[in-house]
Amino acid sequence: MEVKPITHHLFFVLLTATVRTQVNPEMCRYPLGMTGGQIQDEDISASSQWSESTAAKFGRLDFDNGDGDGAWCPDIMSEPDGLKEYLQVDLRSLHFITLVGTQGRHADGMGNEFAQRYRIKYSRNGSNWVGWHDRKGRQIIEGNRNAYDVVLKDLEPPIIARYVRFMPVTDHSMIVCMRVELYGCEWLDGLMSYSIPDGHLMIYRGLDVYFNDSVYDGTTAERLTKGLGQLTDGTWGLDDFLHSHIYGMWPGYDYVGWNNKSFPKGYVEMIFEFDHVRNFTSMKVHCNNMFSRGVRMFRQATCYFRSGSDWETEPVTFRPTVDRVSQIARFVAVPLGDRTASTIKCRFHFSDLWLLFSEVAFQSGKNNSAWVSFLSVPWDDPTHKVDDSNTRILIGCLVAIIAILLAIIVIILWRQVWQKMLEKASRRMLDDELTARLAVQTQAFSFHHSSLSSEGGSTSNSTYERIFPLCADYQEPSRLIRKLPEFAQSTEHLGRKEKTQSGGSEGAPHYAEADIISLQESSDSGTDSITPVNINLFAGTDSSMKEFPRHKLTFKEKLGEGQFGEVHLCEAEGMQDFLLEDLSIEGNKESPLLVAVKTLREDANKNARNDFLKEIRIMSRLRDPNIVRLLAVCVDTDPLCMITEYMENGDLNQFLNTTYRANNIASTYYIKLIGMAVQIASGMKYLSSLNFVHRDLATRNCLVGKNYTIKIADFGMSRNLYRGDYYRIQGRAVLPIRWMSWESILLGKFTMASDVWAFGVTLWEILTLCKEQPYSQLSDEQVIENTGEFFRDQGKQVYLPKPPYCPDRIYHDLMLSCWRRNAKQRPSFQEIHTLLMDISNI
Ligand code: AMP
Repeated sequence: MEVKPITHHLFFVLLTATVRTQVNPEMCRYPLGMTGGQIQDEDISASSQWSESTAAKFGRLDFDNGDGDGAWCPDIMSEPDGLKEYLQVDLRSLHFITLVGTQGRHADGMGNEFAQRYRIKYSRNGSNWVGWHDRKGRQIIEGNRNAYDVVLKDLEPPIIARYVRFMPVTDHSMIVCMRVELYGCEWLDGLMSYSIPDGHLMIYRGLDVYFNDSVYDGTTAERLTKGLGQLTDGTWGLDDFLHSHIYGMWPGYDYVGWNNKSFPKGYVEMIFEFDHVRNFTSMKVHCNNMFSRGVRMFRQATCYFRSGSDWETEPVTFRPTVDRVSQIARFVAVPLGDRTASTIKCRFHFSDLWLLFSEVAFQSGKNNSAWVSFLSVPWDDPTHKVDDSNTRILIGCLVAIIAILLAIIVIILWRQVWQKMLEKASRRMLDDELTARLAVQTQAFSFHHSSLSSEGGSTSNSTYERIFPLCADYQEPSRLIRKLPEFAQSTEHLGRKEKTQSGGSEGAPHYAEADIISLQESSDSGTDSITPVNINLFAGTDSSMKEFPRHKLTFKEKLGEGQFGEVHLCEAEGMQDFLLEDLSIEGNKESPLLVAVKTLREDANKNARNDFLKEIRIMSRLRDPNIVRLLAVCVDTDPLCMITEYMENGDLNQFLNTTYRANNIASTYYIKLIGMAVQIASGMKYLSSLNFVHRDLATRNCLVGKNYTIKIADFGMSRNLYRGDYYRIQGRAVLPIRWMSWESILLGKFTMASDVWAFGVTLWEILTLCKEQPYSQLSDEQVIENTGEFFRDQGKQVYLPKPPYCPDRIYHDLMLSCWRRNAKQRPSFQEIHTLLMDISNI
């Protein structure tokens, strides 16, 4: 029977306890400073950003940047392969990272962007990047399910790195935003890489036992080089090498092992590279010693040292006593005699058929604290009591946990107090400014509430004498309007979308009803140099979106003119064959297909050109019966074109306006109108399932096909989710304010809930047959003032009135609920769709 002297146990337990004080993955889980701020802004970078307020530095977990965005969001939609966009954190030194946390962007209810899945890449030197994968080779990490909750993921295996990149992965054209934290501790070993011969296969009683370094992150040719792996993953093997700490892994998983038959010189050579020159005291190697199966600890270690280019001639040799009694796996300490080096080469001599290592660690320089960091237990002090050290560890853990909990509680309380204070302050500020009188009394205007219905609002004749607010962000729309020289004369033409007929003069607004043109509107709009568009921008389009031969398009007639240029009806020869199965649309295969071709105007500037390509990319990913389909593109040469399905009856605004007469709302028409609304709700339901904000929903942006089929179009604004500022600075800011929620106008927040608001207005347009513009009695400035009333919520806000003959249920249960002040209380498109279906089935 095998004898296991108690002293052996004691010694190994002691070693175990002390070794754990270096890097113990279970303890090494401290937040590294994204939330706490220890990581500086300049150490957080990204591939791109949507806007200043969603820059990389805001990608901190549980952190709000004050203006509500509080997350990093990449500039363009993340590529499906998740390889392009990233948020990078520089930890300034090597760290052992065991855990990552991610969170989305909610912006206090205004946002809903998060990364459902992501990858991680890391680097120790900033130039060699490695894609992290788990022990089974999976690279994709399941991320967030909503914009609020923090999701923590254990990194198994852990990472040793200085730089870490979070790379969102999306399936669809989903916009993602991320806030992140890294957890771990400093990697004091300083080991940058080790080079070893790869491990061998042992056949033990017919069982394959693999001793390869399965998580090695360097190059794996003849030798493993330039990486770290199982020997530094903080997990050491069990006494019985057939079993593993880690569930579901193969026999031998915990060890890297070599058979001495493959080493005629009788030793295995390992080279260790460090971050800089260090003074080495010792090295510890965790060895298996199951001699009953031919495995034994090494009998000799000879280590060579190098600080510059040459190896020092004098090695250090150490011969441990080979244990022939106990089969317990153990750390063997190799004294390194305070030698100075940045590279160490050690030769481990076999004392049996197999040599199995699971961990290697170094003690160097003045970093002795690394060994004793946690509880100051001297690792090589055999006189130290086991109980003592364990108790200390336990107490240390408890103290650390309590400290962390206290810190979390304090942070939460502190955040809450601040949030309340900020809320109060901003409200007070808004109130003050709202009550300021108009500077120019002549601009005061009268407005009779009686002309419009007001939900619970006052019916008295109230005169708006308040100037609209606030800080630069808030006041921009009204300020711009007030400053506009055209504004004085423009009110009478506000009301119709400028269509082709206007000739689309350069300076004219796109949405006459709400156009706000920045004063900075560059005189350069026509002279901007046109930079060739990098067609890689287009790389994210669906693979089915092919280049259509331009010469096969035959012009038939002009359909209209939009933001980017003219839209033409064309015959597309051979389009049916050109389309893939899932795209093919009804029609005679022989005859040319009628299509709508939207062309980018020739004098378009660089921004418009990029936006046009982005609209293509967005549309190419959308597939829904109620979304206009992009069929093909012509982007190889100028002018850029997108080819969409042709909608025979043009836009819904024109269609309703010309097809129906106002006094003609019979119940049959109502069913048809509700049917149209159902289709729009269905298309929006699809968009919201992709987390996609349209930003410009209105009847003018819906197209009508055969049999009253309605499809949502015009994704020209949708991509600008965070880019309102950009437009204001660089050129025209076209804001459809009569369709916009109060928070979109005042705070620049565009969310699914603001799309719901616009849907309410669109429904109102439909039920009034587009005979008048929403809030037609109000000037643009008054519309913006009215949004101020929505913010103040004192019952003075004006709602669009109930359309004639509109059932109460639609007005009260649906329209008014879309215009609720609290975005969270507005219905979702799913609910809207269900309700409308319900109504249409009656
Ligand atoms: P847009 O640039 O998308 O605003 O389009 C300008 C105008 O062209 C619209 O208001 C429609 O009248 C017309 N139009 C655009 N796309 C189509 C289409 N697919 N089918 C029919 N007419 C269209």
